[in-house]
Order: sequence, then C-alpha cells, then structure tokens
Amino acid sequence: MVWLTLLTVLMTDTAPPPPDSHLALDDVARVVEPKGPIQCPKIALVSYRGDVIRYASPLRVNADFRDRLRRFEAVVRETAVEVYGRAPSQITHLGSFNCRRIRTWPDYLSEHGLGNALDVSGFVFPPLPRRAQAPVDLPRQLTRGFRVRIDPDWQGTDGAAALHARFLHTLTQRLVARLDIFRVMLGPAYPGHKNHFHFDCAPWRIVEI
Ligand SMILES: [Zn+2]
Repeated sequence: MVWLTLLTVLMTDTAPPPPDSHLALDDVARVVEPKGPIQCPKIALVSYRGDVIRYASPLRVNADFRDRLRRFEAVVRETAVEVYGRAPSQITHLGSFNCRRIRTWPDYLSEHGLGNALDVSGFVFPPLPRRAQAPVDLPRQLTRGFRVRIDPDWQGTDGAAALHARFLHTLTQRLVARLDIFRVMLGPAYPGHKNHFHFDCAPWRIVEI
C-alpha cells in the first residue's frame, strides 16, 4: 500500500531526473524496515556553511548535495537582488543530516538520513547597502534589515508580505525549472511542510510546493 502510494506520487511527477546527472547516492538502497531502530548507510558527509550565501548554522551533507546547494544559493541571490536590491545574508533552516525514515512512508529512509536533503525555513536580509539600486517598488521599510519566513510569507497578500510572497514563489518557480539542482521539492502544498521547503536529490522527482 505504501509502495502504491509512492508509485502514485512518482507517476504524477513532472519529469524524471535528467539522465546526465547520475549521482553516487542514486545506487544506495532506500528501503528499510518500517519499525524498530534503523541504521543509515555510512555516507561521507562534509560540514558546509554556504559559499554564495551563508546558512544560519553549518549543514552536514554529502559532497554532491553541497554542489547542488551552491547552485541553489546562486538562484537565491539572483532572485533576491531583483526583488529586494540585495542578497540575503543568511539562509535559515530546520536541519540537514538526520538519520530517520520518511514520516509518511516508513518503509523508506529519509534523504535526510543520507545527508542529501535540506529544510529551508527562510532568509535574513541585511539593510540595503548605500550604493545598491533599490527596485522601484521596494516598500520603504524594506530598506532596513528584515526576515522572510515561509510561514507566513508564502501566503502574503499585502505590502511587504506580498513582496515576500513574490520572492518565494519566483524563487521556487526557478528552482523547479532547473533540473540540475533539486529533484524533490516540497513546500506548503505538501502535508507537514507549512513552514519550510524540503529540498533533496533522491533518485526520483516529486514537486509539490
Ligand atoms: Zn526535509
């Protein structure tokens, strides 16, 4: 039944992972016993603070996923400069490596258990630098430092919150279009993800943001 559920989701996805981006972890089995203690495969992990944009605390991820995160940070920077006139100083998150099952599919190891996933909760922006060109529609209060949070800003409809919603939605649209970054992207549209984006590089593609 669980398998059928997973298959159903896999068959409704938008595209398979691109064949030219085979990752070492694609060959690692994800199936585990649905109950009892689990052992995660021994994957070499690196500590990563973020090269283009810093993470609020260091991540523990596998090296292939770190390379994908660099590309992710570049998309964050580009989108943020367009919307706010500067890049965020930090990406806030709810964790990277964590040896556990997928909550809704206990027969499967979570990609977090392979250091192959990140839960992003928001972004911290510094004050607008003096020489930066502010976008014409930037609300005055956003020339100071501020935070963007998936919850509640994903749903923002007025003023600064509407701009935050535009930033978050534009960012995720660009990430979905980039088949060379993440394969699984879950967000508020997916149960249990009201306050964060889950990004991973499992050997299948699921997009529910
Ligand atoms: Zn996650």
